[in-house]
Amino acid sequence: MHLTHPDASIYVAGHRGLLGRALVKKLRTHGYRNLLLRTREELDLRCQHSVNSFFESERPEFVILAAARVGGILANDRYPADFLGDNLLIQNHVLDAARKNGVKRLLFLGSTCIYPREAEQPMQETALLSGPLEVTNRWYAVAKITGVVQCQALRRQHGSDFVTVMATNLYGPGDNFDLTSSHVLPALMRKLHEAHTSGQKRISVWGSGSPRREFLYSEDMADACVFVLETPEEHLLHVAPDSMLNVGYGNDLSIRELCDLLQNVMGTDCALDFDRSKPDGTPRKLVDVSRLMKLGWKAPTSLQDGIQKTYAWYKSECP
Ligand code: GDP
Repeated sequence: MHLTHPDASIYVAGHRGLLGRALVKKLRTHGYRNLLLRTREELDLRCQHSVNSFFESERPEFVILAAARVGGILANDRYPADFLGDNLLIQNHVLDAARKNGVKRLLFLGSTCIYPREAEQPMQETALLSGPLEVTNRWYAVAKITGVVQCQALRRQHGSDFVTVMATNLYGPGDNFDLTSSHVLPALMRKLHEAHTSGQKRISVWGSGSPRREFLYSEDMADACVFVLETPEEHLLHVAPDSMLNVGYGNDLSIRELCDLLQNVMGTDCALDFDRSKPDGTPRKLVDVSRLMKLGWKAPTSLQDGIQKTYAWYKSECP
């Protein structure tokens, strides 16, 4: 059942993450005033007992599962057991408790990196499970694929209205700027900023610079989530019979082109040293957004504007 009432209780799991904070802001702007929020310290989603108690006492009507262990290409490689195990625990506990407690609709956050490495571009939702995965993030991918399929299984067996939104690479205010665990866009933003302000004027860019990636502003992703929550079930299932919806910007660029755009917006002119000892990962990861467009949603923020806003935030928070 879709979201209509401003007093509906909505549990945003992971509200301090990149997407979670954008979701809280967007839901409030849309007039939703009954948000349930718990920090990791208040509610450890890896603990089944705590998750069950929370759902039994708070009885959320809607859930957005934006809590997950996430990270860039090296973090995935370094902590495989955490990326697989923590994500399985979090999603199993939340999906199970949501089903048992009659949640009206749940949005599960999938990711475009769980599609097969060689999937035809742009990747359609139907590409899931059609081929081998990219090795650098298969731990995360296997966990998330299980979550997508579990949502489908719960719908089929119990009629639970659980929907998966497949997010492309997100960026925005509040992103992780740690150079070992972050994704490429915040990492390069920080490296360029620091090289420019220190006068050193060279940065290391991992890999060859040729992989192509699509980037979506976190507030646009939040907007898409609210849009999907508010879409009646029959409309949604009409365009997405497998209850999966890709969310992307609609076009991609190479890592080298991303460096150029960042430099342009940030006003830096650093030399780029490509470090080929670091992995390239998947060659390309562009999603087909036609399902969401058919429902009437398109990403409003250009990459240039999104970078500008993110850089303004970065300079004010991490000078
Ligand atoms: P992916 O989309 O899962 O591969 O994850 P990332 O966002 O971490 O990496 C995307 C691409 O950017 C890969 O080809 C990386 O090698 C490349 N890259 C270039 N420089 C960096 C960097 O400083 N940090 C990260 N995380 N990736 C980088």
